[in-house]
Amino acid sequence: MDFLTPVDAAAPRVRNSYQAHVRWGARDVTVGGDAPVRVQSMTNTDTVDAIGTAIQVKELALAGSEMVRITVNTPEAAQAVPYIREQLDRMGIDVPLVGDFHYNGHRLLTEFPACAEALSKYRINPGNVGKGDKRDRQFGQMIEAAVRWNKAVRIGVNWGSLDQELLAGLMDENSRRAVPWDAKPVMYQALITSAVESAKLAESMGLAPEQIILSCKVSGVQDLISVYRALSQRCRYALHLGLTEAGMGTKGTVASSAALAVLLQEGIGDTIRVSLTPQPGEARTQEVVVASEILQALGLRSFVPSVTACPGCGRTTSTTFQELTKQIDDFLRAQMPVWRKQYPGVEAMKVAVMGCIVNGPGESKHADIGISLPGTGEAPAAPVYIDGEKSVTLRGDNIAQEFQVIVENYIAKRFGAAAIA
Ligand code: SF4
Repeated sequence: MDFLTPVDAAAPRVRNSYQAHVRWGARDVTVGGDAPVRVQSMTNTDTVDAIGTAIQVKELALAGSEMVRITVNTPEAAQAVPYIREQLDRMGIDVPLVGDFHYNGHRLLTEFPACAEALSKYRINPGNVGKGDKRDRQFGQMIEAAVRWNKAVRIGVNWGSLDQELLAGLMDENSRRAVPWDAKPVMYQALITSAVESAKLAESMGLAPEQIILSCKVSGVQDLISVYRALSQRCRYALHLGLTEAGMGTKGTVASSAALAVLLQEGIGDTIRVSLTPQPGEARTQEVVVASEILQALGLRSFVPSVTACPGCGRTTSTTFQELTKQIDDFLRAQMPVWRKQYPGVEAMKVAVMGCIVNGPGESKHADIGISLPGTGEAPAAPVYIDGEKSVTLRGDNIAQEFQVIVENYIAKRFGAAAIA
């Protein structure tokens, strides 16, 4: 066996992109450059319902969304935007708002200056700004607003609304090739060209490259990987990454995770959104949870203490182990909005909840705090490990409650001290 060559640790690559600033008040969310990959989300309320929208924005922000996008589709919605901002400011929520514009964005941003000012970033879809002569003029009006109000802009191309004139032109060009490409590479080229050329046009109109973020969203995993790899090489703009129309539940979560993980590991993607269709009754915040978990799983960011748990097997015939894992996970998540400020650094903590003696003590020792529950046939005792050392053994019917108290005390002692220092 060759012990002379160390195994390289996998690590995400770094892409040298421009850094955009998405600001509201004293809050400055940097995107790209040396900034961490940011989490974004989007409301599904009617923007005209200012209170309902402000409440959902608050929920998304508290769940960890660092920017929240809202639809601005009508004059009434544009009028509601400053009120939404005001409500959020009153609640102490300084998350920057992103306005999503299609078709009439040029009019809304010009005719409702309070809306243009209250937003921190405008999302413009070059496929939906108008046709023919009107296209550049209307796009220009939106860029003018961004320059005037000093806002960041996401030029977001989506293959469901791709600029048809551009696509037709590239198809024609392709048909004149000696050996024409397949339709797919032409489509990829159209997406990338639409984004990059629109960004160049915006720059020629006075927008700084640091104010521009690009996205080219598609709904297939391999398509997304292909497009973003090429896009990242064609420009230095910060990139917003997401699989569009990912779908619902497990399918949407897995497809988004698969696509985003590959690209993020290659250093591609400065801000992400997971476009999940909520299942009936499911909270909108689920998309923020999934996005955060993707970044945390890749080791790019820490948002919430991670709970390592074994899957359970024939050695765990009672449900105690599953219940305790869920209880601890829910408890840690619920506390995070407060703990984030109270206990800086707590988000990087690792908790292990293990089902039996086989891997329990070993995995528990690797965590900051861990518990190894008794498997079937084992003595009814649950040793707790703190910082790699066995601390106490819990017994009886209140193991879950007692372990939760131990976790709370550990956090207060270890991370409370950091807050004081
Ligand atoms: S730690 Fe024990 S209970 Fe958990 S999967 Fe391994 S053998 Fe099964």
